[in-house]
Amino acid sequence: MRLVTLLAAVSAAGVVSATPTPPHHRWIRQENNTSPSDYPNPFSGKSHFVNPAYSSKLDQTHASFVTKGDEANAVRVRKIQQKVGTFVWVSRIADLSNIDAAIRTAREAQSKNGERQIVGLVLYNLPDRDCSAGESAGELKTSQDGLKRYKEEYIAPYASRVAAATDLDFAIVLEPDSLANLVTNMEIPGCAAAAPTYREGIAHAIRSLQFPHVHLYLDAAHGGWLGWDPNMPLAAKVFSEVLALATRNGTDKNVRIRGFATNVSNYNPFHALVRENYTEFSKSWDESNYATSLGGYLEEEGLPARFIIDQGRVALPGARKEWGEWCNVQAGFGPVPGTSNNNTVVDSLVWIKPGGESDGRCGFPNSPAAGQWHDEYVQMLVKNAHSSIDSVTL
Ligand code: BGC
Repeated sequence: MRLVTLLAAVSAAGVVSATPTPPHHRWIRQENNTSPSDYPNPFSGKSHFVNPAYSSKLDQTHASFVTKGDEANAVRVRKIQQKVGTFVWVSRIADLSNIDAAIRTAREAQSKNGERQIVGLVLYNLPDRDCSAGESAGELKTSQDGLKRYKEEYIAPYASRVAAATDLDFAIVLEPDSLANLVTNMEIPGCAAAAPTYREGIAHAIRSLQFPHVHLYLDAAHGGWLGWDPNMPLAAKVFSEVLALATRNGTDKNVRIRGFATNVSNYNPFHALVRENYTEFSKSWDESNYATSLGGYLEEEGLPARFIIDQGRVALPGARKEWGEWCNVQAGFGPVPGTSNNNTVVDSLVWIKPGGESDGRCGFPNSPAAGQWHDEYVQMLVKNAHSSIDSVTL
């Protein structure tokens, strides 16, 4: 899914300044984005939606542990299946039905438990998506009317589905990797060509998803990609330009996002137990530090410094030789969503990439295509899971 090289990261300043970009517009800071009391943390006091479609995939994993007589890990699987919220990916037009299924089952859970549910969704279907890594290339192409189809056949029905479910809250992550590619990978012809589509597509998605119960988080890659000193101001600038498009230079006062999502489908720890050598001089040597550092640059642009951080999978210490390794890395399930996080810019730790769905045909032996289930891999995630899973009660 993602191609990140230190080289790309460090050379970004040169690459971006050599690329014609639209004039820089400050996104006008809005009343309702300035004070936390005007826009309280949407995760506070809510139940993270547990996705039955994901849980049922784990039945196979549960059975594998039972067959091996590994009761402790079989119980961990049950806890994940029944109690841990994960995001629902809507990675193609045909996946729009995943939203209907999520709404149906979230309502059932809500009426059973009496707790308001927050449903995590990923919006991931830009034309010419995944312009650098290519493992997750999608169904739409700009050259084949992709942007029109994105707006009409994907964003419009996506928006009408969530708009109608006012009895639920939604946290929506917008287009993993896309804007980060515009920050560091503009020397890749596919990324340079895709840039106008990405900007317009995301701005259109933001504008189309403005509802009080829908909370938008723009993807901000991860600390090993955009977290280098030269990259953070450039990233904040690109985000600001896209928000300027979405808000028509700040004149559409009601258009807002809640914040940014980091580490989606990547492997960085929120709190690193070991500072890896490959983080070198970076201030963003774990995701908590990345959120704090990037937050400063976002605020300078008038953007909300608030984050959700994917901890669905966390690399084992020493598992990666380079920070750029992104594909089916040796890892464990990370801290469960809702684990207290001690960073005031972080709304919640979340599990966005559903652990067990492959990153692509790379990394861990015998990995299938992106999105496909890999039971051997998920067994490893369970064995190496963060201790917070053991405190979950069934
Ligand atoms: C794949 C999608 C999949 C998602 C979540 C992406 O890399 O391209 O098809 O839905 O991962 O597993």
